[in-house]
Amino acid sequence: MRLATRAQNIGASPTLAMNARAKEMKRQGIDVLSFTVGEPDFNTPAHIAAAGIEAIREGFTRYTPAAGIPELKEAICMKLDRDNELQYEPADVIVSNGAKHSIYNALQALVDDGDEVIVPAPYWVSYPEMIKLNGGTPVIIPTAAEDGFKLRPEQLQEHITDRTKAIFINSPNNPTGAVYSRPELESLADILVPRGIVIIADEVYEKLLYDGAVFTSVAALGPEVKEHTVTVNGVSKTYAMTGWRIGYAAAPRVLAQAMANIQSHATSNPNAIAQKAAVVALTGDQTPVQKMLTEFTRRREQMVKGINAIPGMSCCKPEGAFYIFAQVASLFGKTIRERKINGSVDLAEVLLTEGHVALVPGAAFGDDRFVRFSYATSLDVIEKGLLRVKDVVAEAK
Ligand code: PLP
Repeated sequence: MRLATRAQNIGASPTLAMNARAKEMKRQGIDVLSFTVGEPDFNTPAHIAAAGIEAIREGFTRYTPAAGIPELKEAICMKLDRDNELQYEPADVIVSNGAKHSIYNALQALVDDGDEVIVPAPYWVSYPEMIKLNGGTPVIIPTAAEDGFKLRPEQLQEHITDRTKAIFINSPNNPTGAVYSRPELESLADILVPRGIVIIADEVYEKLLYDGAVFTSVAALGPEVKEHTVTVNGVSKTYAMTGWRIGYAAAPRVLAQAMANIQSHATSNPNAIAQKAAVVALTGDQTPVQKMLTEFTRRREQMVKGINAIPGMSCCKPEGAFYIFAQVASLFGKTIRERKINGSVDLAEVLLTEGHVALVPGAAFGDDRFVRFSYATSLDVIEKGLLRVKDVVAEAK
């Protein structure tokens, strides 16, 4: 069978692939410790889960409006106003099957063949693939650790062409944890807005902030910026609801309507039961979010300490999200148990097969000099896993 060119040009998500390998090894009885997936290990808070159960009991199990139930769209508008100083109406909001799907809808609605979409690197693995799937060209701009992995206005300027259609701004960032300050966002928006470039603001990690880091929603910079921005968020990371698959976007009405039309033909509505639970997540008791953050803060301390104690690895303290992007390039060119380490993929492979520790090579995020550890896992796994990494890396010659 000959597949479409677009399918031939796309691989599976490396994060999910690595996680699948770790799971397969576990199934075979191997004690693998995994730092791969960006998924809180907490259960969905009980009051949110109860709302899902109640929805089933009430028979709320049928199709809903394609772009989401009015109750949830109103809850999203309330949340954007409460948390982000953003005023939207329900008609500007589309509920999707996860923030990933919201991003896909936005690209479907925006990108024509040959359009360029700017992606600062390190980036979340799916951005370039989703751009390509929609006929666009990803324009990757590397950012530097010395700049806190943030895009500088001069860099942005250099990469804009008359085909530039959109840009991804992901703050807090996966995989680096970088959080853009308001002035930093303003200096980027000052370049983007006059050129009519659409900002896809991926804000799924907005609640995971450390050491007093302050989150600014891009669209809140002002009415003109808002007119050029699609704000993407979801309940997966904030409320430990990854499997419920509820994300959302708020956008200028013409874009929101186009995204809703596209979704109506591709998937119809997101899961009815999960929508009911998401209403309670956004409008109900927010203390579980704080509790999870407290736990993530402890894990982050332990991760940073543990990684910096491994000769050949180093990392900074991330300001947000739940990942550590650790520098490993000083191990390249060395050999561990007769395996040459030429890059992050080799290192991840050796750590998995020899140390039974799974993590994601930086190459998947657009920077081969790093590996990504997710600390959405227990303190126990962190402690044992980092000891294993240390032991394997100590053999590098
Ligand atoms: N955006 C970023 C930066 C992510 O890391 C993820 C998940 O890993 C998503 C979006 C997608 O989240 P979901 O589709 O579960 O809402």
